[in-house]
Amino acid sequence: MTRYLDTRLRALTFDLDDTLWDNQGVMARTEEAHYAWLDEQLADWLAHHDGECRRFSAAMPIERYQAHRQHLAKAHPLRRGDFTWIRERALVDLLEAFGLSRASAWLWASRTMARFHALRLEVSPYPETEPMLETLAQRFRLGAITNGNLAFHRLALSRHFDVVIAAGEMPAPKPDARPFLATLSRLGATPAQALHVGDSWQEDILPALRLGMQAAWIAPHAPADTPMPAGTYRLEHVRELPDLLEWMEREQDIATGD
Ligand SMILES: [Mg+2]
Repeated sequence: MTRYLDTRLRALTFDLDDTLWDNQGVMARTEEAHYAWLDEQLADWLAHHDGECRRFSAAMPIERYQAHRQHLAKAHPLRRGDFTWIRERALVDLLEAFGLSRASAWLWASRTMARFHALRLEVSPYPETEPMLETLAQRFRLGAITNGNLAFHRLALSRHFDVVIAAGEMPAPKPDARPFLATLSRLGATPAQALHVGDSWQEDILPALRLGMQAAWIAPHAPADTPMPAGTYRLEHVRELPDLLEWMEREQDIATGD
């Protein structure tokens, strides 16, 4: 039979944080540890160079760093999703206010962000993630769309993906449609030929549905009887995705009489 509209799935797009791994612990650790690293290293440096024993964290507690990041995100709406830029800029401002020269402030901010990125990469993908992506990549084109600022290309897992979009740096973080459209266009799939997998209803599922994609919502804590719009499927864990795809394929075969 002739198919006028090919809606068979060709592409899968994935959110990363809290979809392929549990991100809560990593973020909390990274937040504390990169600031503590700066505090210690800077104290050593000041003691060596100026014979000073001032502590950065005593003058600039981490709450002040967090509040200044919020201020910068509001003051620079186009950069609001670019968390790396916001963090680095906040560090520079605080270091200058602490008394460092502009050049030293930039140097320390960029060293601290290198530390941040190293810590941010210490994610542990769920054990099922790697073999699942390996198998899925043989049948589908795979894309990743993240608002997070981890250097995903440095993780071995990234080799399974044809396209990775850091939406916060575009600058059009999810739920903006643009990172989804950019990913689909690079994957060579129409929205109807793609399914997005993510844990955020607002940032993953709603924008995918608005574009006409299908969506798998990773929602272990949502009540089982949560009503789902057409084209949306609720999963407890990403490991259930292959079963869902198999089921969708059978449904499609029945619908098209294959
Ligand atoms: Mg997420």
